[in-house]
Amino acid sequence: MISVDEALEKVLAHVDVLEAEESPILGCLGQVLAEDIFSTVNIPPLDNSAMDGYAVRSVDTRGASRQSPHFLRIIGTVTAGTISKSEVKPGMAIRIMTGAPIPKGADGVVRFEDTDESERQGIPEEIGILTEVKSGSEIRQAGEDITAGSLVLRKGTVIRPAEVGVLASLGRSKVMVIRRPVVAILATGDEVVDITQPLPEGKIYNSNSYSVAALVLRYGGIPRLLGIALDTEDSLVAMLRLGLDADMVITSGGVSLGDYDVVREVLAKQGEIIFWRVREKPGRPLTFGVIKGKSKAGGVRNIPLFGLAGNPVSSMINFELFARPAILKMMGKKNLAKPTVKAVIEGAIKNTDGRRVFTRVTVEKRGGQYFARLTGPQGSGILTSMARANGLVIVPEDKPEVKPGDLVRVMMLDWSEEVE
Ligand code: AMP
Ligand code: MG
Repeated sequence: MISVDEALEKVLAHVDVLEAEESPILGCLGQVLAEDIFSTVNIPPLDNSAMDGYAVRSVDTRGASRQSPHFLRIIGTVTAGTISKSEVKPGMAIRIMTGAPIPKGADGVVRFEDTDESERQGIPEEIGILTEVKSGSEIRQAGEDITAGSLVLRKGTVIRPAEVGVLASLGRSKVMVIRRPVVAILATGDEVVDITQPLPEGKIYNSNSYSVAALVLRYGGIPRLLGIALDTEDSLVAMLRLGLDADMVITSGGVSLGDYDVVREVLAKQGEIIFWRVREKPGRPLTFGVIKGKSKAGGVRNIPLFGLAGNPVSSMINFELFARPAILKMMGKKNLAKPTVKAVIEGAIKNTDGRRVFTRVTVEKRGGQYFARLTGPQGSGILTSMARANGLVIVPEDKPEVKPGDLVRVMMLDWSEEVE
């Protein structure tokens, strides 16, 4: 049996960063940029107004105040997206809208609030300026956000909504990103029934494929549900064949020591077992290996395979601990860790056999301190406890017991508003 840390090391040693592909920018959220993005344009493209107001020559406002307004002749209006043909000469002003390019001759903008516009009726021919403005006032400089030729986004950047916006501002509709892994998901078990079917007596619905597929989606992969294999080698081999063009295979169930636990045997015959059994609770029977799959070019390639334990909580936790970082690495990400917080535990945890224990908790912040409350019974079949949890207390291998009030480390599964 190996430790959680050794197991993760072995997993990561067996997965590689995937190739880059071109993708529409909205499809790239959470993916890693595979090219440096340079700008060919200035943003904004021209000096433009930061306010609705009047474009003026700043010298014409010198000495203006509410007591002694300076009156300027209005020679036109310029709106965003148009370019004024007129030039602002001494004693003149052009009405200007936010985003509109600064007309020739003007070097400042006076906001509507600093003019007497609101007191005037109809379309005024002149405007009273009630304040002095400096040269450059309320003007956004051409290229102040992005200058033409500059490196805007570096290769390796994770694309978030802000990056999607920046790419759009450059007029990029597609970019090169590391592609998302396709993850084939297979349930095993004679007792497991598809959720679209009636449930015969003694059977259970296949929840694992769905919780795992949802996790794959959350972390950026593309889940592909292969269905349910029976507890026979033949059935498993046949079903696994459907996933041999995927980038990763995840099975659930059939990795313990029972008579019908055939996943390991099949993995040993079709590929190689890298490890089996991890010093953790829940999820000890976790199996990891590689199977021979097909490459796009028609050759043979190793596909990482996770044989998750069948218990619904074990499969989810082992996904978080091992499959999630593997997917993130394949996507080219560098930060593979979930965030952790220190919390005061409300409840006791026993660790009787030197494993690393992951206990489901609800984390709350009260008075500047995190508190972690156990979600109740911790059986690995109690999936609703995962639904109640937003974190996992990590009890180290060498800590036999955690007492109420102890400070513990909690891996956050979710970081919702309630936590902060
Ligand atoms: P196993 O590891 O195959 O012995 O399964 C352990 C437990 O998990 C058993 O109670 C199974 O019925 C249950 N189980 C296995 N596969 C699934 C699944 N796909 N969905 C829900 N529960 C499952
Ligand atoms: Mg089974």
